[in-house]
Amino acid sequence: MSLNTQILIAAIFGVAFGFFLNLFPETGFFTGSIYGLSILSSIFIGLLKLLLIPLIFSSIVVGVSNLQSGGQLGKTWKITLACCVTTTTLALILGLSCAHLFDVGKGVDISLFQDAMTQHQTPDTLTPSSFFTNFIQNTLINPFKAFAEGNVLAVVVFALMIGVALVKGGEKFSTVKALSQQVFDIMMLMIGWVMKLAPLGIFALLAKLIATEDVSVLSRLAEFAAVVTGTTIFHGVVVLPLLLWIFGKMSPVTFFKGTRTALITAFATSSSSATMPLSMKCAQENLGVRPQTAGFVIPLGTQLNMDGTALYEAAAALFIANLMGLDLSISQQLIVCLTAMIASLGAPGIPSAGMVTMIMVLQSVGLPAEAIAILLPIDRLLDTVRTVVNVQGDMMISVVVDRYTNENDAIVKEGNKAV
Ligand code: ASP
Repeated sequence: MSLNTQILIAAIFGVAFGFFLNLFPETGFFTGSIYGLSILSSIFIGLLKLLLIPLIFSSIVVGVSNLQSGGQLGKTWKITLACCVTTTTLALILGLSCAHLFDVGKGVDISLFQDAMTQHQTPDTLTPSSFFTNFIQNTLINPFKAFAEGNVLAVVVFALMIGVALVKGGEKFSTVKALSQQVFDIMMLMIGWVMKLAPLGIFALLAKLIATEDVSVLSRLAEFAAVVTGTTIFHGVVVLPLLLWIFGKMSPVTFFKGTRTALITAFATSSSSATMPLSMKCAQENLGVRPQTAGFVIPLGTQLNMDGTALYEAAAALFIANLMGLDLSISQQLIVCLTAMIASLGAPGIPSAGMVTMIMVLQSVGLPAEAIAILLPIDRLLDTVRTVVNVQGDMMISVVVDRYTNENDAIVKEGNKAV
């Protein structure tokens, strides 16, 4: 039985068991079951937290170190970076705006995470200037301290620096580069193990949620799923094609016709990494992207550019805050955006990777990591659509980058002729 089917069945059983437990409130059976379910769910969430930092670190080091230095390539990666940051920022703005527009998660007051929330400290006194001072003070620190404390931002900065050093050092650091790749592969293997536990974890989390909470949370969840799916589709069908048309001078019809195999594969596998060979093929053969551009932009984009994931994580953080009756201030929403951007950088292109990095987005504004329990049941469903948009973004950027670097080449050639 595929993992997807197992997760679906576990979710159904979890909900059913939660309702069943509700028939025996305040009995030994109820308390004993809740205790057992708490242990199971803590193991699952604990394992996800355990892998978070090494995963983000190795994923970014590998993504950056696969770049190559050099003249024309330097230009290519600047344009690629500019495109990634622009599309991800637009996705984040869209995600937050739609979550606000539809008031996702407002009106239910859940107490599930009360213990965690008693320690919640709202950093709402943050002003823009103190935000930057805090940012610098918390980011440029001893990397070992950052690893030990789970300071994701500092880990990301250190990983980026190591990645750039590996690019600059070239052959000299090939051993460290190979080591980083192996650390990343090991992390992926371990995520695979944890995912095998996902049905059990999801069963426990859901049963506990239903047995101890107001079930209206479920209808809010369906509403949230609809809003996120609609917004992600809007980003993929309107925003990205518009940018492609303006900057890549390519009609969306040509784009979708040429990339449909890759997009369908992304939908079916929920994995940008698994889809990467097809994305590369579609970009080169059907969109006319030169092999040197596709060979550079698509692997990098697969690792680091995830519009769908960023959009989902920003909207989900707002949803959880609303469920808990917390109003996030503007500076907190900025932090959510920044962390969601980093989370999408650090998420590898595998199914449900966004679920692991979601933890850091929640924690960035003091929301409890346990709150992903609410999102887990719908995560695999939403993952299909967000992976399509992630893959679409990579191929679209390859078209834009190819066009601009091609023009640059032409200008250089003209100049040489004139000389
Ligand atoms: N499954 C997504 C991808 O492969 C990552 C995520 O979970 O958001 O692109």
